[in-house]
Amino acid sequence: MEKIWLKSYAPGVPPEIKFDEIPLGEALAKSAKRFPNNPALLFQGTTITFKQLDDMVSRFAAGLKGLGVKPGDTVAMLLPNLVQMVVATYGAFRAGAAVALNNPLYTDRELEHQYNDSGSTMLVCLDVLMPRMINLRPKTKIKQLISCHIRDYLPFIKKQLFPFVRKGMHLNTPAGPDIYEFTDLVKNNAPIKEPHKSKMQDTAALIYTGGTTGVSKGVQLTHGNLSYNVQQCLAWFPGFEQGGEIAIGCLPFFHSFGLTTAMNMSIYNGWAIVLIPKPEPQSILEGISKSKATYMPAVPTLYNGMINFPDLKKYDITSLKGCFSGGAPLPLETIKNFEALTGAQICEGYGLTESSPVTHINPFGARTKPGTIGLPISNTNAKIVDVDDYTKEITEQGQPGELCLKGPQIMTGYINRPDETSATLKEGWLLTGDIAICDEDGFYSIVDRKKDMIISGGFNIYPRDVDEVLFTHPKVMEACVIGVPDAYSGERIKAFVVLKPGENATPEEIIEFCKKNLVKYKVPKYVEFVEELPKSAVGKILRKELRRLDQAKSAKS
Ligand code: AMP
Repeated sequence: MEKIWLKSYAPGVPPEIKFDEIPLGEALAKSAKRFPNNPALLFQGTTITFKQLDDMVSRFAAGLKGLGVKPGDTVAMLLPNLVQMVVATYGAFRAGAAVALNNPLYTDRELEHQYNDSGSTMLVCLDVLMPRMINLRPKTKIKQLISCHIRDYLPFIKKQLFPFVRKGMHLNTPAGPDIYEFTDLVKNNAPIKEPHKSKMQDTAALIYTGGTTGVSKGVQLTHGNLSYNVQQCLAWFPGFEQGGEIAIGCLPFFHSFGLTTAMNMSIYNGWAIVLIPKPEPQSILEGISKSKATYMPAVPTLYNGMINFPDLKKYDITSLKGCFSGGAPLPLETIKNFEALTGAQICEGYGLTESSPVTHINPFGARTKPGTIGLPISNTNAKIVDVDDYTKEITEQGQPGELCLKGPQIMTGYINRPDETSATLKEGWLLTGDIAICDEDGFYSIVDRKKDMIISGGFNIYPRDVDEVLFTHPKVMEACVIGVPDAYSGERIKAFVVLKPGENATPEEIIEFCKKNLVKYKVPKYVEFVEELPKSAVGKILRKELRRLDQAKSAKS
């Protein structure tokens, strides 16, 4: 497939790049050699340089080895974006282990499934979760637990003021067999003598997806998948300097989006990462203004939260030069307002955990098409197929169908699930379950998820079309529509709306606005105002969860 559009839309970006065959563990060592004294991690006033990070990773890897971790083992992580998350992940790579990344907000039931499914034998865990994990351990194959304290990497003054210390509730790791302190492993071990040399085809990470209902599946990503995806993304952000940028680490590193576009991209390229354990507008605004950050990957709800933050004017965020948005559709209003505020360009991209995750980007510094997910990135092929028959390719421009992807960043499969793997990977193509269209210039747009489509009176309605209009209402901060059963039309549209702070509105007013901007069958019949919308850990609005909550509420009434 000749990518002619690259010449006119992204002239500096090659359709194919020659990859550096370097696993990420070695990429860190390389960055530490090139930029030893550059900051690698910035956390609440503590700075860890690349040389220090590399040393901590090597000591932690030696500690893991001493505890019996061998190449091929899996170490589970249950941590937000802290110094320990970065050290433990890269330490596991250097000891030859894969990591199973988990969301610290998951329930015990979900975690038990993920630990057993991934075959994890060790868990690196936040101190406050230790009591729960000690109880869970006998139901899993986990033998050793490593406890991490936020206070350990706070500067002296903040450490003294840390809430647990101040209240006299200094949270200690419970004593017990096979329980270790993260800091002891780093302090008491000499750097590992022979760091493991991972092969690009070895599994590096297991990331669980699709767990909001039903049982989640572990996406297996190799060292190659992760390293290639970082290199693909870098090629699409020309103008970003090696060793010269400061990235905002607000997307959780346990999610593929944060893992690749914040953590791995920064380490590979010698950039500093500002660690933000709880992604909220205020801490992000503070992080940008204090560190003079230049690059931020985030999801639309965070961009939206920032521009609507009441004390926004207190923060100078004009140091940002490029931002990356993905994970969910980025409303045009948000792009316009954020870019006007910062002067930085937001490039919308797309991807999914199964593709490490990035496959599309609107090229940075080049001609973008706001509202689209951009072009397939280097070494990536995309096609659109019939929703019911993947063997039928749709070549007609603007015709929707299921988006399929091929490239070196595509997963090897779901662990322990051959049936799901073969239903998702067809002759090397990943079937995404997303409905997309492609325009005359090769830019793709996600119309919706296959399963989210609303059918009302025989019309197919992609909820995103309605969401987009609601977002342009001056009083609306966030919105999400779902289909609700209707005896006459099959389904009707119900809109859930979060108003901007201090605003009031009536359902009629919102419906009137939609009538002016949408064809009749797409106008919501019901509008419910809510305080907030259900969101995933990464900040995506969960339409599926909203449907479930609404159904449960209707069943009760
Ligand atoms: P996850 O595996 O959690 O990263 O979720 C991947 C899903 O997020 C994709 O299959 C899409 O449905 C959605 N997604 C990602 N990026 C975008 C985007 N720019 N626009 C619309 N949906 C997106």
